[in-house]
Amino acid sequence: MTPEDALLRVIHCLDRALASPYKTRAFVRALEVVHETDPVELAERARDGRLTELDGIGDTTAGVIIEALAGLVPSYLQQVEADSEIGLTDAGATYRAALRGDCHLHSTWSDGGASIEAMAATAIDLGHEYMVLTDHSARLTVAHGLNEERLANQLVEIDRINDEIAAAGHTFRILTGMEVDILEDGALDLSPGMLEQLDVVVASVHSKLRMDADRMTERMVMAVANPHVDILGHCTGRKVGKRPESQFDADYVFAACAEFGTAVEINCRPERLDPPRALIDLAIEYGCYFSIDSDAHATGQLEWQPYGCNRAAERDVPIERIVNSWPVDDLISWTAA
Ligand SMILES: [Zn+2]
Ligand SMILES: [Zn+2]
Repeated sequence: MTPEDALLRVIHCLDRALASPYKTRAFVRALEVVHETDPVELAERARDGRLTELDGIGDTTAGVIIEALAGLVPSYLQQVEADSEIGLTDAGATYRAALRGDCHLHSTWSDGGASIEAMAATAIDLGHEYMVLTDHSARLTVAHGLNEERLANQLVEIDRINDEIAAAGHTFRILTGMEVDILEDGALDLSPGMLEQLDVVVASVHSKLRMDADRMTERMVMAVANPHVDILGHCTGRKVGKRPESQFDADYVFAACAEFGTAVEINCRPERLDPPRALIDLAIEYGCYFSIDSDAHATGQLEWQPYGCNRAAERDVPIERIVNSWPVDDLISWTAA
């Protein structure tokens, strides 16, 4: 394990543990310094105890570098590996084993912390057959959402990366997509022409989460009924312990999801875990499809699917209704229908 491998893995585990950005940033900075420093100089400094003289290397990051250079798995890394491990119940394991991909994740093109290539490499390591890249749409300016021009550029970039992945001998592929904002009137934050070109469209509410229940119901039903929408993202918008659920008539919304073939996302982010249990039960009753997605904004977060799998198992979601358990061609035929 090189110092770079060790630092990258620490960052991965910190992201997986949803550590504070400040903590992660120290390792990202150290990684840059290691990258810029001549390996011979780095080894000399490690030997003489002069690593911390480099701007951006502190005691902890120096320790990781020294141990990695000595051929050890750094003790700090062992610690964060153990602390960030994600529990999977026996029943949840059956669901996790059934998943073939992830339909909701972000890259540095919007507010993610990792490149498309890095996200794909981790998804391949996790055994996924595909991932759907769903960066934010333009309206979400705080998340550096993509306008049509940037999305068009991203589609070209995905083609290029897919060619590289295939050339490396992987059958894995990146599917195109977007997490499109559901505007206040239920319209989508992307033109029908662009929506048409995407493999998978996740639609989510990110603004005016507190609008009155009648209007929120209309807004969500409008989006769910849109033929381009495939998945309804984190439907209540709650953040556990921080932000309450949006108010809407879940019977109407899930009946519309079932009617128009829009999957209800089981969002795996530990601070979201959305929908809550009672709403999963209701969506099962209505015969909805589901999608168990990480909503990852960093490579380590791609490992969050067990959170949703545990919950799906607990509520007894029929596995055959989980769209990302299907072969990728079936998924694409379904989203194109
Ligand atoms: Zn979202
Ligand atoms: Zn998202």
